[in-house]
Amino acid sequence: MIIRNAIRCNICGDEIESKHRHDYVECKCGACAVDGGHDYLRRCFKEECYTDISVTDHSRKEKE
Ligand SMILES: [Zn+2]
Repeated sequence: MIIRNAIRCNICGDEIESKHRHDYVECKCGACAVDGGHDYLRRCFKEECYTDISVTDHSRKEKE
């Protein structure tokens, strides 16, 4: 289960969070972006230039 879907850009230092399934958020410099909200962790980037600060809870795993 995804509690927080967020990354920090290592280039501009911006912290961005996707709050909904179709909430696509780019950092200030546009080098990376997050998407997927609490449903899936999707990252868009040219090079891996971010630190993942997402919070996931494995103890409350939902049955599919
Ligand atoms: Zn950036």
